[in-house]
Amino acid sequence: MDFLRRIGVKIRSAAQHFMMGRYGTDKLNMAILSVGLLVSVATWFVFLPVLDMILTALSYGLMLWAIFRALSRNTYKRYLENRRYLRFLERLKDKEHKHFACPRCHQPVRVPRGKGKIAITCPKCKEKFIRKT
Ligand SMILES: [Zn+2]
Repeated sequence: MDFLRRIGVKIRSAAQHFMMGRYGTDKLNMAILSVGLLVSVATWFVFLPVLDMILTALSYGLMLWAIFRALSRNTYKRYLENRRYLRFLERLKDKEHKHFACPRCHQPVRVPRGKGKIAITCPKCKEKFIRKT
């Protein structure tokens, strides 16, 4: 039994060594994997060969993308992707505000919903633009 435990420790330390400096997983990766899994489940109910092929390729693609992200050494870029994804989720949940990007500097601006047409002043560059809320 001691032999098995020693092998276990070795495998774990090898895995740790392999993941050193690599990004690992995050919420975006979990989402990519879930969608990939959903798509591959969806292929069970698809009987059109072309569609089945496309969905299978898509699910493999998504899973490969998640693996690529987890093993990536460019952790900063992966971190930014995850942050963008989290911000996107937040906006989906936010029913009280509407989000616009400033037409001049692309600064994201958040305004209350349901106020009709309003003039918005960009907090960064002071550009004024009119949007329906
Ligand atoms: Zn601006």
